[in-house]
Amino acid sequence: MFVRRRWTALATISILITAALSHPDPGAAAPAAPTITLAPTETALVRVRLADQGQLDRLVAGGADLANRPRSRDGRPVADLVLTGRQLADLTRQGANAVQVVQRADDGTRRLAESVRAAEARTRSGLRAADGADTLQFLQAYWWTTGGRTFLQAQVATTATDDPDVEITVNWRTADGATGSFPLYRFEDSGEYQYHYALPQPVPARPVQLTATSSLGGTSRPVTPALWPNAAPPPQPAGYQKDFIDAYLTPVDVRARIARLGRQYRDLVDVIDLPNRTQGYRRTAAAYLGDPAAAAVVVESVRFGDQGMDGVQVRTVDPGRPGRPLTVRYRDRVLTVSLATDSAGKVTSSTDDVAGAINARQGARFRATVEDGSAGLPMPVAGPVRLDDGLQGTEVPARPWTVQALRIGKHRDGSRVGVLAYSQEHAREWATSLVTLEFAERLLANARTDAATRQLLEQVDVFVIPTVNPDGANYSFHDYNFQRKNLVNHCTGVARDPKYRTMWGVDVNRNYTVGSLFDGYVGASANCLSGNYAGTAELSEPESRNVIDLARAHPNIRFAMNVHSYGGYFMWPPGAYKADGRVTLPRPSIDESTLFLASARRIVGAIAAERGTVTWPSQTGPVADVLYSAAGNSADQLYYELGIFAWDFEVGNDRWNEVTGQWEGVGFQPPFDEAHGESQEYAGGLVELVRVARDYAAGNPVRR
Ligand SMILES: [Zn+2]
Repeated sequence: MFVRRRWTALATISILITAALSHPDPGAAAPAAPTITLAPTETALVRVRLADQGQLDRLVAGGADLANRPRSRDGRPVADLVLTGRQLADLTRQGANAVQVVQRADDGTRRLAESVRAAEARTRSGLRAADGADTLQFLQAYWWTTGGRTFLQAQVATTATDDPDVEITVNWRTADGATGSFPLYRFEDSGEYQYHYALPQPVPARPVQLTATSSLGGTSRPVTPALWPNAAPPPQPAGYQKDFIDAYLTPVDVRARIARLGRQYRDLVDVIDLPNRTQGYRRTAAAYLGDPAAAAVVVESVRFGDQGMDGVQVRTVDPGRPGRPLTVRYRDRVLTVSLATDSAGKVTSSTDDVAGAINARQGARFRATVEDGSAGLPMPVAGPVRLDDGLQGTEVPARPWTVQALRIGKHRDGSRVGVLAYSQEHAREWATSLVTLEFAERLLANARTDAATRQLLEQVDVFVIPTVNPDGANYSFHDYNFQRKNLVNHCTGVARDPKYRTMWGVDVNRNYTVGSLFDGYVGASANCLSGNYAGTAELSEPESRNVIDLARAHPNIRFAMNVHSYGGYFMWPPGAYKADGRVTLPRPSIDESTLFLASARRIVGAIAAERGTVTWPSQTGPVADVLYSAAGNSADQLYYELGIFAWDFEVGNDRWNEVTGQWEGVGFQPPFDEAHGESQEYAGGLVELVRVARDYAAGNPVRR
C-alpha cells in the first residue's frame, strides 16, 4: 500500500511550491541551458540562484524547505532548497539557475555532493547617474588564510539606504602593490536595509588597504583589514588523543557509546537519564480504503502500529441484499464496513458515511477521514487493505526513548562552572552528534594522559546531550534522510493523510518559550506540515523539555553550545525578531557582547587549528543578524530565562573549490570523510569553549 508513499509526499511539496510560484514574473530572464538535472520525482538538496527577491518571497510564503540562509550573490538571492526535479524545472523556467546539487535523497551509498558551475554570470545593469554622493563606512574588513589561499571579506554601509540601485565596489591593495576590486551586494532582512557585502574573495597576498566607492560618487576612508579570527588555542601536547569517530552513529549507536564511556571512565562521568521520555520510533498504522486517485477514506489506528495494529485489515463489502443499513464490525483483526443498500440492492453509502460510521462505532480503535478530494463520493467496495506504520528501521526498539546526557568532570557537585553542549535537535544533521561525542571522549581520554586536560576537568563541569531528537534521527537514518523534526504528529483532518508522512513532526528548535511563535516572533510556523512547525504550545515536546530541565536542574551551567549543521556559522542571541519593524529580542549589554565576540574569536581560532577551516566573520554574530529569525529556539531561552551564555554552531562550512572559483555547500549528510573532519574541528572548538568557561569562572566564581 505504501509503495506510493514517497512520491505522493513529494507531490504534496510540489503543490506547495507550485502554488508559491503561480505568479511568474513576465520580465524574468530566458532560462539558462540546464546544467544540473534531476529526475522529475527525485528529491535533492540544491543550491539555487533565484531570479529575484520576489521569487524567494513566494517560496518562503509557500512553505518551501529552505535549508540555509538565502544569500545574495551577483545581486540575486541564493538559497539551498529541498526540492524535486519537477520543482527545479519550474524554478528554472522562471529564471532561476541550479548552482549545485548539495545532496540527493534516499541515496544511502552515494552521498557525495556533486557540484556544477552555474551556466552564466548575470550581466550587471548599467550604473545609474549620481545626483549626490553618499557616505560609505566599512562595518567589517577581515582577511585570513586557509589551505594556502588568502581571502578577504568586507561589509560596507551606505547612507543611501533607500536606494536599491546604488552599487558599491571594494578596491584592495596588497603589501607588494598588487591591486584589484570586487562588487558588494545589497543585503536586506525583513524589508530593512542592513549593509552591502560579498562572499569571501580570494586575493593573491595579505591585503593592506581597502577603499569602497559607490555609483553615487561616494568614497570611504581607506582602512586596513584585520586578521580574522586572530586567536589560536594552546598547542596540543605530543600524544594528545583524538579521532574517536569512525562512522556515522545512529541513536542506537550513540546510546551504546554513552554506555561505554560511562563504564570506561567511572571516576569522571555520570550518565544522566533525562526526565521526559520521547514518543519513540513509532507511528500509528494507516491505509487508504479505496483508491485515493478516485474515492477513498483514510483509516488509521488510534494506537501505534507496533501496539498490535500493523497488519490489521480493513475492507468495505456489498451486503448483496436490498434495504440494508451501514454497519461496522471489528473481529479477528479485521474491520469490516458493510455498505448500505437501497430497495433495489444498490449501494448508497458515501465516503463521508463510511468515515463517520467508523468514528462513531469503532472510535476507540480507529479514526477515519475522507481523503482530500473524495468528499461526498460513492464509497467503493474496497480492500481488504492492511494498516501499516510505514517504518522501515529494524534495529530500533518500538518504545518510548530515554534521552541521555553525559556529565563529565572531577567535581560533579555544582561547585564548578558548567558547560552544556547539545546536538541533533534536528534529526537530519548527522554530523552534529559526532562533534559532541568526539568532544566528550577527548576530555575523558586525555584526562588520563594530559595534565592540562586533567586540570580543565578539575575546574569545569561539562554536560553533553549528543542526540536531543532520537526519534526523528531514527527516521532520518532508516526512512527519510531529510527528516528535520521529531516524530510527534499533531496534525488533524486531511493533514493526517499518509501521503504527508515525511512532513509531520515538531521542529524541536522552535518549541521553546522565549521569543516564540506564540509570542509573535518570526521564523516558526503554526502549520503542522511546515519544516518549522512550532508545536501546539511552548515546550509541548519532551525533546525540548529535556534540554531546559537539565539546565534548570544545574544552575552552575553558565555556557551552552547548541550544535547544528550546516553552513559554518557561529552565533549567539538575539535569535528572533518580530516582523513589524524587525524588533529583536533585547540586545546583550556592551560587556556581554564583548564577551560573546571575544570568546567566539577564540573558538573560531580553535576550529581553524584542526584543518584550516575558517568560519567567516560575516557568519559570526547574533543569530537574527547573520542567519535568520528563529522564533522559540533553545539558545534564546537558555540566555534570556536562565542567564546562560548560549551559542549556536552550524558545523559544515562551505568549501572553496579552486577549479570553479566558488564556495560549495557540504549538506546535512556529507561523505563521511567530510563529516569526520567536521567532528574533529568542532570538537576542538568545544574544548576551547571549556577553556573560555574556566577563564570566566576565575573572575566570576560559582555561587552556591
Ligand atoms: Zn539545525
